[in-house]
Amino acid sequence: MNAIDGDMNVLEKQKHGRRKKQMETKLVRIENPTAVRDEDLKEAAQILREGGLVAFPTETVYGLGANALDETAAKKIYAAKGRPSDNPLIAHISCMRELGPLVSEIPEAALLLARAYWPGPMTLVLPKSTRVPYGTTGGLDTVAVRMPSDPVANRLIRLAGVPVAAPSANLSGRPSPTTAEHVRQDMDGRIEMILDGGPVGIGVESTIVDLSGETPTLLRPGAVTMEMLRTVLGAVEIDPAIVGPPQEGLRPKAPGMKYRHYAPRAELTLFEGEPAAMTAAINRAAAEQLAVGKRVGVICTDETKDGYCDGVLLRSVGARAYEETIAHNLFAVLREFDDFDVDLIYSEGFPRDHLGQAIMNRLVKAAGYREVKV
Ligand code: AMP
Ligand code: MG
Repeated sequence: MNAIDGDMNVLEKQKHGRRKKQMETKLVRIENPTAVRDEDLKEAAQILREGGLVAFPTETVYGLGANALDETAAKKIYAAKGRPSDNPLIAHISCMRELGPLVSEIPEAALLLARAYWPGPMTLVLPKSTRVPYGTTGGLDTVAVRMPSDPVANRLIRLAGVPVAAPSANLSGRPSPTTAEHVRQDMDGRIEMILDGGPVGIGVESTIVDLSGETPTLLRPGAVTMEMLRTVLGAVEIDPAIVGPPQEGLRPKAPGMKYRHYAPRAELTLFEGEPAAMTAAINRAAAEQLAVGKRVGVICTDETKDGYCDGVLLRSVGARAYEETIAHNLFAVLREFDDFDVDLIYSEGFPRDHLGQAIMNRLVKAAGYREVKV
């Protein structure tokens, strides 16, 4: 049984109400997330300090936070998510002063990138200090660090007074949560508190750059794009795992890459080409499947949505002209399809530059590298 099958079991059990609630999860709504008051975050900060789990909004996706310096707290994250414990966690900080204690050195490239894009959706992998436990880094001698710009996240970390390890607040194998309701679906009864700060801004996880080796290497594309990294650093390499399926015997730089990422319950096929050509190809494929009684879902865009045949379940991720909207809606649409009873999903593809690199990276993985070029 692979990791995904395991996760499906968790989901199935949940669905049938067989899983016992382990604790009461407190839901706290932040009325005005852009002008958050310290007293609204005090209890959450205390839970984190005392080794508990709090889900909170960030500008990328909702995070599931725990004290990054407390190995026992980190273990609780893995248990709540059903995530393999050699998949390392990102430590979140609120200001530059908090970086030093986590790392054994700060290379020039880290200072340049931090100056340009922190606080923001960018994670840096650096050699770890002895203070960071291996339970947080999945046994690695490096630590991934990010300084979020979201005011709730940033202030919560400051008030907690500890670096906060925070992977996405979903069950392992599910799409990352972009609303507090997504978090509740996956985490209710498993964690102490969910802070609801409304829908996130960006919608895909942070860019990860490894600065622990000779050449800066992109491990995961995100809203700080390859183009933006190259503006600051010049040369940046791309980890092969971003481009193609994991190679047999090749040890991925980002340990998370060895696990199958989110895969929808229905088989997803990704089409790539001009919008009109993709629509035509998807219509042909859908017609064949509908004819044999299959239920077909289609992920389309505002520009193409009127071009699809009747009978398919259609969801638009937004306008092609605004890739920010597509990134923002992608995980919510994938989650919706998991709740519908479809047999197959066909998705339109997007240009692979700028934010499109992150969008396509998530889609390619969700499709298990099943791609059709038209
Ligand atoms: P997330 O699922 O958003 O928590 O992202 C965590 C991912 O960051 C992991 O799956 C790894 O791919 C990557 N990561 C975290 N720490 C490290 C590290 N020390 N070295 C390389 N990649 C890391
Ligand atoms: Mg995740």
